[in-house]
Amino acid sequence: MNKIVLITGASRGIGREIAKSLSQKGYQIIANYNKSVEQAQKLREENINIDIYKADVSNREEVHKMVQYIINKYHKIDILINNAGISESKVFTDVTDQDWNNMINNNLYSAFCTTQEVLNEMIKRKEGCIINISSIWGIVGSSCETIYSITKAGIDAMTKSLAKELGPSNIRINSIAPGIIDTDMNKIYNKKEIEDIKKEIPLEKIGKTTDIAKCVNWLVEDEYTTGQIISINGGWIII
Ligand code: NAP
Repeated sequence: MNKIVLITGASRGIGREIAKSLSQKGYQIIANYNKSVEQAQKLREENINIDIYKADVSNREEVHKMVQYIINKYHKIDILINNAGISESKVFTDVTDQDWNNMINNNLYSAFCTTQEVLNEMIKRKEGCIINISSIWGIVGSSCETIYSITKAGIDAMTKSLAKELGPSNIRINSIAPGIIDTDMNKIYNKKEIEDIKKEIPLEKIGKTTDIAKCVNWLVEDEYTTGQIISINGGWIII
């Protein structure tokens, strides 16, 4: 049977690219989406091995139903990719409680909740691979994106802790921490700002969604990497 892969936030950007590349290799994908219905339908129509499922991953009940749907239809989940996320740029003193809750729920609670729901099944089978998409900002911090950075640092801490807890259950968990990747998330920057950012990056270019998908393709096949934060950033941060 094909390996079953759940990717959260796969209607656009990085998640969409991961879905496309793994489906071409014969993996059975369940591409989660929330608001972008048309993009998700197009993803299913234009690719093989892609099933789509609408759920807000910041909502426990919706995540639970999604995972039950997958187990009922495909009987297992081999790989989970926690990719769904949002970003917001705001001076720290302007951040409201609502902003905080929104960011924490969409970026961090979503990964906690989806991982928990999926793990019950993975632990029973003593097999699994989890990949969390975090960010360089969780590693080095970002001015005016403190809450975003907190969520990504939290995800990386989850990766490290769970790798220790789940290793004996033969479940590997790693983070990919991208630098700047060409997706809708960076449409806030104008042309000049993008050129300025490129000057800060040793490889002098913005990353592509395929750069992240290639790493995912490697990690899902690997058997001995766990608890690692793999940063793909053109040399923007070197630690
Ligand atoms: P994007 O193009 O804005 O896409 C975000 C995706 O997340 C969309 O498919 C969206 O689905 C989904 N999503 C957001 N909230 C959701 C929710 N509550 N439930 C379900 N789906 C949800 O962003 P991206 O650049 O591909 O980012 C993907 C991940 O990479 C994020 O975690 C982001 O923080 C991380 N990242 C991105 C960059 C970058 O430079 N692009 C850098 C570092 C890290 P709908 O549209 O269907 O709602």
